Amino acid sequence: MHGSRHERATYPRTMVALESVLTCPSCGVQASESMPENACQYFYECTGCGERLKPRAGDCCVFCSYGTVVCPPMQTEGGGPDADVRCC
Ligand SMILES: [Zn+2]
Repeated sequence: MHGSRHERATYPRTMVALESVLTCPSCGVQASESMPENACQYFYECTGCGERLKPRAGDCCVFCSYGTVVCPPMQTEGGGPDADVRCC
């Protein structure tokens, strides 16, 4: 007799990345920045040209717009390219 158990696919909560590399749209300089775990950073001052970056329309923070990794709230809310998730 086989005891078949249906296991639900669970997503590990430990995969939230707290580091993102921001790329400045003005000068192309990249900078690795750490992100707050449950907040968003709306402004970011480029280390290269001093440009004050703001999120693009529809994005909640500079990490979602210019970073290699979206902000932690978006990661944990299951945010994806098509997900309509607002974190703040
Ligand atoms: Zn710049």
